[in-house]
Amino acid sequence: MTRHLAIVGSGPAGYYTAGAAQKKWGDDVRVDVFDTLPVPFGLIRTGVAPDHQSIKGVSRRYETTALSDNVRFVGNVTIGQDVTVEELQGLYDAVVFATGAPHDKPLGLPGEDLANVFGSAAFVGWYNGHPQFAQLDPDLSGKSAVVIGMGNVALDVARILSKTEDEFAGSDIVNHALEALKASRLTTVTIVGRRGPHQIMMTPKELGELMHLSRAAPRVDPADLPAPEDDAILEPGLRKSVGHLRSFAAIPESERADKAVEIDFDMFASPVRLIGTGKVEGVEVERTRVEAGRAVGTGETYVIPADLVVACIGYRSSPIPGVPFDERAGKFANDEGRILPGLYAVGWARRGPTGTIGTNRPDGFGVIDRIAEDLASGALGTAARQGRAGFDALAEERQLDIVTFRDWKKIEEAEAQAAREGAPREKFVDIASMIRARG
Ligand SMILES: Cc1cc2nc3c(=O)[nH]c(=O)nc-3n(C[C@H](O)[C@H](O)[C@H](O)COP(=O)(O)OP(=O)(O)OC[C@H]3O[C@@H](n4cnc5c(N)ncnc54)[C@H](O)[C@@H]3O)c2cc1C
Repeated sequence: MTRHLAIVGSGPAGYYTAGAAQKKWGDDVRVDVFDTLPVPFGLIRTGVAPDHQSIKGVSRRYETTALSDNVRFVGNVTIGQDVTVEELQGLYDAVVFATGAPHDKPLGLPGEDLANVFGSAAFVGWYNGHPQFAQLDPDLSGKSAVVIGMGNVALDVARILSKTEDEFAGSDIVNHALEALKASRLTTVTIVGRRGPHQIMMTPKELGELMHLSRAAPRVDPADLPAPEDDAILEPGLRKSVGHLRSFAAIPESERADKAVEIDFDMFASPVRLIGTGKVEGVEVERTRVEAGRAVGTGETYVIPADLVVACIGYRSSPIPGVPFDERAGKFANDEGRILPGLYAVGWARRGPTGTIGTNRPDGFGVIDRIAEDLASGALGTAARQGRAGFDALAEERQLDIVTFRDWKKIEEAEAQAAREGAPREKFVDIASMIRARG
């Protein structure tokens, strides 16, 4: 008997789940992978840094799945808007939400509505050409940027703000961002974190890159570093990351002299409010100390100048009508991926915004095991579903303009042809251009 699966979201979690379904049921499954964008791969396209092309190359691995007959990409369709969840449930045996966590968590601080204050979903989406954020137009004419957060996204943002045009060679940073960065007058990028070196969430490879920037150098205050022997208790990755912070603290002033940009780590500093008239001018922070791994305020405050603020403090999923949502955690309410009979979640929509691309692979296999159990136990009912034939009839009735994977390959080809010299592609940054490029 053929199984019909709808997967909502074509990022890593969506494609790992589709691959797992193929592995489980072979030719006895038909999978439709929906995406609101006409282009696939979620944050691999719109999140992973444009100067990290080898990581973006992971998407090639999904092509075998995407181009096989029993899996198809259904782009340019928003579930919950163009088609309801109830409608999908009527057509497919199971519906899996792989919708990620596309919204910025708010800072929750006074002044966060000031101009030139952005969350990382918006800012990263801008330099990566996400149609929703392509018009962001951040003002980079000031001297100081503050990046809030001590994870890899904060490092991505700080690095992108600090690179020269030459350092973007071979990247797929979109033209509008490259032009803005070329004209940038930033001289200080301060990375602010509430806790200390032992609590950073930055990985060694990404931290190490800061040592090799042509016009920027990182700075760590030696007074913020614990005694070297205290690093012995850390797990090896974190120990290596802290080692990089120690190297940053040891860079001699003579070496910094020819660097126009400083990437300053301001640790033990908890943002209290954003200051400015109309546009942001500074971030007031409270000095902290760390007790049992938690930041505790000391009452001492100071202001870090900021003409631009990017908050890299995490993401939330989007609720979809009819699907139980855990507001506090910002993800679908689920038990090991099960939301309700027939409804499942996977990836960031299931776990929240943590983990690398690879973390979503076991998640995909896990949810397919659960669907197989539920099918076998009869928990999903016994009615035969119409699957893709039923969806196609609905799409025609609604006149949905669906983009297929083969269409995407044409869009991809057009992007490759439009690339500046040495770059892999110049992305289309609006949906109409993507649709036009499919021919
Ligand atoms: C800035 C940034 C940089 C990162 N860099 C790295 C890195 O270098 N290396 C690494 O391993 N990991 C990195 N990650 C983490 C990695 O991107 C995630 O682990 C992964 O993308 C999560 O996969 P996902 O499929 O759950 O969500 P996503 O990749 O977000 O995919 C979700 C998809 O669902 C679609 N969608 C959402 N709602 C709907 C709807 N209602 N209807 C239809 N479609 C919908 C979206 O358009 C999107 O395509 C980074 C993350 C960020 C934010």
